[in-house]
Amino acid sequence: MTELDEDVAGQFVSTLQDWVKREVLPCAAEYEKADRYPEHLVRQMKDFGLFGARIPAEYGGLGVDVRTYSRIIEELAYGWMSLAGILNTHTIAATLIHRHGTDDQKQRLLPDMATGERRAAFSLSEPDAGSDTRAIRCQAVRDGDEYVVNGTKMWVTNGERAAIVALAARTDEGVTCFIVEKEPGTTSGGISVSRHIEKLGYKGLETVEMSYVDHRIPSSAVLGGPSGVGKGLHYILGSLELGRINVAARALGVARAALDASMNYAQERETFGVPIIEHQAIAFKLADMATKVEASRLLVYSAADKFERGDRADVEAGMAKLFASETALEVATEAMRIHGGYGYTTDFPVERYYRDAPLMIIGEGTNEIQRMVIARGLVARWKEAQS
Ligand SMILES: Cc1cc2nc3c(=O)[nH]c(=O)nc-3n(C[C@H](O)[C@H](O)[C@H](O)COP(=O)(O)OP(=O)(O)OC[C@H]3O[C@@H](n4cnc5c(N)ncnc54)[C@H](O)[C@@H]3O)c2cc1C
Repeated sequence: MTELDEDVAGQFVSTLQDWVKREVLPCAAEYEKADRYPEHLVRQMKDFGLFGARIPAEYGGLGVDVRTYSRIIEELAYGWMSLAGILNTHTIAATLIHRHGTDDQKQRLLPDMATGERRAAFSLSEPDAGSDTRAIRCQAVRDGDEYVVNGTKMWVTNGERAAIVALAARTDEGVTCFIVEKEPGTTSGGISVSRHIEKLGYKGLETVEMSYVDHRIPSSAVLGGPSGVGKGLHYILGSLELGRINVAARALGVARAALDASMNYAQERETFGVPIIEHQAIAFKLADMATKVEASRLLVYSAADKFERGDRADVEAGMAKLFASETALEVATEAMRIHGGYGYTTDFPVERYYRDAPLMIIGEGTNEIQRMVIARGLVARWKEAQS
């Protein structure tokens, strides 16, 4: 997907950057404190075409390349990480449909997804199945032309507002990915939002537990049609590479915001007659923070470019996600130290970065799992190179 040329992509990102400064930064703290969904910002994100960012033009999307998409995510997260979260599950679902969907699924769903008219959630995790996807228990049993779904899914970000859910459920043939269409809201057929999960950060958008009780879906909802039955995990793990690049880009945005806040503060705050940036202990912190932010950016771009070329990018996406998320956590903590006591108050945004950053070490596969993915990939590539 490379339908925006480089200059246009650059202008697009810079327009978004201005929008974030003008519209997001002034209200993010208020919305986050109230844990309120930013309807007006989502409307503007729709107008920008962001929900169709990775959907090709033939379905009404912008079709931007992965690097540009990463820059979009970085800018959103710079303003407020939750905005990137509103987009992320939608993009994963759109990617699954575009890569593996039948013609009918693509024609029918992608145009409405591109405009953001119908937004999507991604539902893999369960109460007892997070890292261990083999433990998935949600079941879809074939009954004539339909499947009957029963089970509980956990951590469904955007689950309530979604009109489409990419759902992983167990079938006789293994895990299958279903594209479930539903009404936005707390109930739809046999689907109900059984719990709103209270979170440390990542506020303003819902992360919910969803229960399926004898919920019937047509067999045409199997991603990829009849040949997609049992291939759900294969499809999902492939698109999680994009999800991981996305989380890395989000971490980069939060880290950059924490660094900028610290640069500002360190030049304004004076102790012992000089701005604190003139104390070497503070200047060195900033030097380390800036170096790691830059290294995160390069890892994100390298993984994005590899994914874009269609190469296997599991190792690169894992490295970008691992490094950028650990950096975000470290930079957010250092930002708080630089702000002294004020960093611990809600007067400054660094406390939000400090609460938002840890999600990135967990989401789209914890960093322990990333290390396993990276190590496994290294061994496979090593063996390949030797043979
Ligand atoms: C705010 C939020 C939003 C989320 N949104 C979504 C969403 O939209 N859709 C979705 O499907 N999921 C979502 N998730 C779920 C997320 O992907 C999982 O939480 C994550 O994969 C970890 O699973 P778990 O919480 O069950 O932890 P567990 O798998 O129980 O892991 C617990 C600990 O054990 C470690 N561990 C587990 N297995 C191993 C191993 N083999 N070796 C070494 N260490 C191991 C883990 O790294 C972790 O430290 C979300 C989570 C959060 C917190």
